[in-house]
Amino acid sequence: MSIRVLDQEVVSRIAAGEVVERPASVVKELVENSLDAAARQISIETRGGGVSLIRVTDDGTGIVAAEVGLAFERYATSKVGSLEDRESISSLGFRGEALPSIAAVSQIDIVSCAAGESAGSYLSLKEGITVNQGSQGRSPGTTITVRNLLRNVPARLKFLKSPTTENSHIANVVSQYALAFPEVKFTLSVDDRVTLRTPGSGQLIDSVIEVYGLEIAQNMLQLDSRDGGWEGKASTSSLLVTGMVGSPSISRSRRGHLSFFINRRWINSRLLAWAVEEAYHGLLMQGKHPVAIINIALPAQNVDINIHPTKTEVKFQDERLVFAAVQKAVRQALVELAPVPRIEEVATAYETPARPSQPLMTPATDGRHPTTHPPGPQPTPAFSLPALRLLGQLSGSYIIAEGPDGLYLIDQHAAHERILFEKIKQQRSRQEIEVQGLLEPGTLEVNPGQDAVLKSHYQNLTDFGFTIEPFGDRTYLVRAVPAVLHRQDWAGALTELLDSPPGENKGDWTEKIAISIACHSAVRAGQTLTDDEMRELIRQLEQVAIANTCPHGRPTMIHLSSGHLAREFGRT
Ligand code: ADP
Ligand code: MG
Repeated sequence: MSIRVLDQEVVSRIAAGEVVERPASVVKELVENSLDAAARQISIETRGGGVSLIRVTDDGTGIVAAEVGLAFERYATSKVGSLEDRESISSLGFRGEALPSIAAVSQIDIVSCAAGESAGSYLSLKEGITVNQGSQGRSPGTTITVRNLLRNVPARLKFLKSPTTENSHIANVVSQYALAFPEVKFTLSVDDRVTLRTPGSGQLIDSVIEVYGLEIAQNMLQLDSRDGGWEGKASTSSLLVTGMVGSPSISRSRRGHLSFFINRRWINSRLLAWAVEEAYHGLLMQGKHPVAIINIALPAQNVDINIHPTKTEVKFQDERLVFAAVQKAVRQALVELAPVPRIEEVATAYETPARPSQPLMTPATDGRHPTTHPPGPQPTPAFSLPALRLLGQLSGSYIIAEGPDGLYLIDQHAAHERILFEKIKQQRSRQEIEVQGLLEPGTLEVNPGQDAVLKSHYQNLTDFGFTIEPFGDRTYLVRAVPAVLHRQDWAGALTELLDSPPGENKGDWTEKIAISIACHSAVRAGQTLTDDEMRELIRQLEQVAIANTCPHGRPTMIHLSSGHLAREFGRT
């Protein structure tokens, strides 16, 4: 075929294809426009998974009558004027592409009224061509209705999933913006049913309650990189990380509860997801994933937001700096603020059905939480685990101790596991693993799968103090083990490690080996301990930074406060 210039219709459909991947992309563009117009209330209505209808109504600045048509011209935008402007974009939109792109693949109606205008104006377009226009009364703001989306692009329509799936993508977009803009009232109705409504109070926690529910909201920890006193180098002081992260007790079994906003723009970032997962390392049970809402504020010129067709990915000038800042802020919140579970939480939980819409307690550290909420238990920061006095052992499994404020029940296995885990990690990082030779080498028989894992992680195991030599077909001699495992279940630890799926990377394995060694050398539940042994365990636990969970993420202790005891016994 000879080379020729494509005609306008083809060009605009191709361009539309970049912006309008599915109904949720339309919702995203329209909501971003409403936010750019400084709306305080945005309502989103959809029908038929967004294919039959998407309507976004806002109370923003509106468009003056003379410019309503212009908004649908390609590259028409009120948001950036010059090339220099592009270097410091603070609006969500800036390309002037969304409205013409959506219009090319749908039937679209707009009614808009700018402040000071006596009436609004309306315009109807069908596949990008104006079919009707005039004036119509309405209060300041804009309503855009999109019908029959992608009807004229069957190839793309075919790729859409069921209305239920498309609705869930739409709900996700609206939820993300509700989290990014807690000061805006969002309402989402799907097929005439309201599925999300946020109060627009300006408090992130209120959006979290609506998006994730009460249980998660109650267990969110406040993030603020300013609090930690680590402003860092002068060049980094303008990078600010705020938001909320879930305490490890509310982890989810699916990924996808991580939200990242750069200067309030919702983005996807594997880099930042990794930073958060790293910060939770050793705190979550295996296969669990955290919940986090991370806002990063940084000077516009330090991030390029113009690298992706739907603007959902960005490029940081200094990736490492952002990674480190996020990881540090999250880790700090987790280490300092994750509460030791208290008996009150169990007790208050029983009240849930009676007051379903009332938060049961204030989320751990949200200082800005409205005072109308009933006062709840305050968290016991893990850092300040007080000096504890031993009282005894319960069921051969729990250590009972007294602190300045009541009773502590410590799970002896979980607590010892945490202590050993921290110790082994520290020894490993200093390359000072204590090794113990076995008087009689032990034999280890492995199956082919275990054999492959052993061969690929041989060095890693050696680094942790195992001396393992080949001894015939799929049999090995174990000559030395990490000292903590001596006289303990070293074979159990090895077998557990060798049974893990092959192909995991070295970093994961390093953590895994430490966990496994700790688990198999820790005192068992059901093991009677002497008073001295229990005192020593408590003393060591007091030294550990993250004392309140074991490396698998289970709690190590429960706190029963003096106040609670007094209430239970009717003394208050
Ligand atoms: P962009 O957002 O990149 O500027 P769009 O095609 O999304 O491009 O919108 C074009 C223009 O239409 C915007 O620059 C803005 O001036 C106007 N506009 C669109 N939606 C709204 C709205 N809800 N309220 C006020 N103005 C709007
Ligand atoms: Mg836009």
